[in-house]
Amino acid sequence: MTFADIGIPVPLGRSFSYRVPSRFSGDVRPGARVLCEFGRRKMLGIVLDVGDEPPDIAADKLKDIVGIVDPHPVLPAELLAFLRELSAYYFAPIGEVLRLALPAVERDRVKAMETQGMLLPGEAPGRVKQVGGRQVTFASATDAVETPGRLRGQAAAILALLRATGEQSVPRLQQRHGNARNALKKLETLGLVVLEKRRVKRPDIWEQPPERDAPPVLNAAQQDAVARIRQALEGEAEQRAFLLFGVTGSGKTEVYMHAIAQCLDRERGALVLVPEIALTPQLLGRFRARFGDAVAVLHSGLADADRHQMWCKLRSGELRVAVGARSALFAPVLELGLVVVDEEHDGSFKQEEGVRYHARDMALLRAHRAGAVVVLGSATPSLESVALVRRNKLAEIRLLERATQATLPVVDIIDLKRIGAGPSGNKMLSLPLHRAMAATLEAGEQTIIFLNRRGFAPAVVCDSCGVALSCKQCSVALTYHRRAGGRMRCHYCDYAVPLPSRCSECGEGEVLLEGLGTEKLESAIGAAFPDARVARLDRDVAAGARSAKVLDRMRGGEIDILVGTQMVTKGHDLPNVTLVGVVNADAALSMPDFRAAERGFQLLVQVAGRAGRHERGGRVLVQTRDPQHPAVRFAASHDVPGFLAHELGDRAEVGYPPFGRVALVRVAAADEAEARRVAGRFGAHARSCPQAASGDVEVLGPAAAPIARLRSRYRFRVLLRSKQRRPLRDVVASLVPLRERTANKKIRVVIDIDPVSML
Ligand code: ADP
Ligand code: ZN
Repeated sequence: MTFADIGIPVPLGRSFSYRVPSRFSGDVRPGARVLCEFGRRKMLGIVLDVGDEPPDIAADKLKDIVGIVDPHPVLPAELLAFLRELSAYYFAPIGEVLRLALPAVERDRVKAMETQGMLLPGEAPGRVKQVGGRQVTFASATDAVETPGRLRGQAAAILALLRATGEQSVPRLQQRHGNARNALKKLETLGLVVLEKRRVKRPDIWEQPPERDAPPVLNAAQQDAVARIRQALEGEAEQRAFLLFGVTGSGKTEVYMHAIAQCLDRERGALVLVPEIALTPQLLGRFRARFGDAVAVLHSGLADADRHQMWCKLRSGELRVAVGARSALFAPVLELGLVVVDEEHDGSFKQEEGVRYHARDMALLRAHRAGAVVVLGSATPSLESVALVRRNKLAEIRLLERATQATLPVVDIIDLKRIGAGPSGNKMLSLPLHRAMAATLEAGEQTIIFLNRRGFAPAVVCDSCGVALSCKQCSVALTYHRRAGGRMRCHYCDYAVPLPSRCSECGEGEVLLEGLGTEKLESAIGAAFPDARVARLDRDVAAGARSAKVLDRMRGGEIDILVGTQMVTKGHDLPNVTLVGVVNADAALSMPDFRAAERGFQLLVQVAGRAGRHERGGRVLVQTRDPQHPAVRFAASHDVPGFLAHELGDRAEVGYPPFGRVALVRVAAADEAEARRVAGRFGAHARSCPQAASGDVEVLGPAAAPIARLRSRYRFRVLLRSKQRRPLRDVVASLVPLRERTANKKIRVVIDIDPVSML
């Protein structure tokens, strides 16, 4: 008798045991999908383990597996093992973790199968519904043999192309072969080609064949970096995990691409993770130029069907390189040889809902277990990675200079307490900033102005009672947005209301718009420089593909001054930008969070890195009311190692990561007293653990979260801290059953291991 341990995509903490009927015995393998009865429903499950050992449940409770979905493992063994470890590390239900690795299309198949009843080996799974996107016709060659001599010209060329490359979209064929449509019609009637209409949603870039480039000659530092990674790929080096610490524009991406090429030469696959915001057509274009169609790109704009197609090609080994944001961590790249995490310090690698994993940490784990080489790259490494270097877990490779002729820009600090407004009269456009912008404009060069507050005015305040109007559902101040009719919006939920004529609190005072957001800054700059072409880049004007358009216009010289939030800071190579202005560094440094200084510093260095990336050189002006702040001082002197050492000292003093570990229990409920009470139970339970009594684990709270109310739920948190991993894990493990008992629709309980957002 054999038994199988099955993970079922439901949010329950454990896996489930089933009997394997003898008729299925050969087909129930780890990583394969099966159908199981779960309650009264049939559910799709993934086999985790198979064995002869009877599970520890009564024989009459044990059910049979009722169907086989795919006889071949849908998840490769390496990926499955990784998912199980991830689930254990984050105390996350294995079912939910499995969902992360299966494209929606593959998961939804079970719905079709449920209606068909039991599925036996060899039966086709149900048709999959595809939604969204637009209709595109795809052509592919059939196996039919053509009559010799009957095909000439375009039709012959297209057929040869399809046979060589597999499927192609008709629009793309049209681009290559003027009148492809007629040729395809002919090929179709001859039975040589089938045409199929599908819905797709793709960025335009995919419809053009990539223009291939030749790699540049690497400079000495790059060559050295590539050589060290190569030795690791060849298995000759002891160190297989690297921190590539290179200044902005030092050519890190070039190093990654060389490493990938070597990995491919060894017939191994590669995985590249980049922050979502950096996943621009420009970056993808560089990968496509180097590797052509051999790269699978996984990003949030893909339609399910396209994502699925990429996934299948990776799973089959047809594609060996995957590039994508956070969730590409789960791409089924076969024989993984190399994992790259670009901009490894970026906060977006942390998933903040569902399974709260950190893609950088997990990339290290996946690479380690797969025996792959891992390269974390950044101009501003996270303290976590720096700590790993100090503990010899990562080997550091430095690129100290920019790859092109460019030198790092000169950074000047403008003390807003001492220096007043320029001719515009706006305090935030100080005289030196105004002059520098005017000179840049005069020289026909471009400026980026960074402000990390979107909207027109970040606060709406009553001039009588002094109250700042806040969201109905959240304890968050409303931001006034002028566009689209002028409304106050909550940046945490969708709440929006028109600006009231009287204060909604006291009913008397008039409301004043306070503070400066990008929308207001854009119009202030427009007024101060009437001849300049000013544009804005933030989430309000540009999400996803539209931000690429703004950047294209910038690159094409159609914009003189670009005003924006974080979106302007990441990874764009804009050769004509010679001036960067940081309007208010303090806004970036004032988050209620132990990582505030680190994040503010990263932002300053990254945005400054946009200036002078090419021969012309560049200049950065940082406006602040706190010019002595270490993040500002070190950023101004490009002293990243200096900042890291300083900040590590501060962190060690207070015992926050990377010194010691943190876990956060968040409880949210509509009823404030109930949220507090439940959080109290977690706090009390944690305190009752021996690890807390001995002082190995510190339990703080419950206390109201910094955002005390969010989407109509009151939020309390309990913070657990420890110098060591083990005792902290033991305490968290003992809280997991309590979470399962208390969490329900009304009370949400989240356990966040290694939290990034402390909100
Ligand atoms: P990073 O990823 O470190 O910010 P990039 O790889 O984007 O740096 O390189 C910055 C610029 O320098 C790009 O325009 C890139 O094409 C160019 N570049 C990189 N390496 C070289 C090289 N060895 N020779 C010439 N140009 C290079
Ligand atoms: Zn809100």
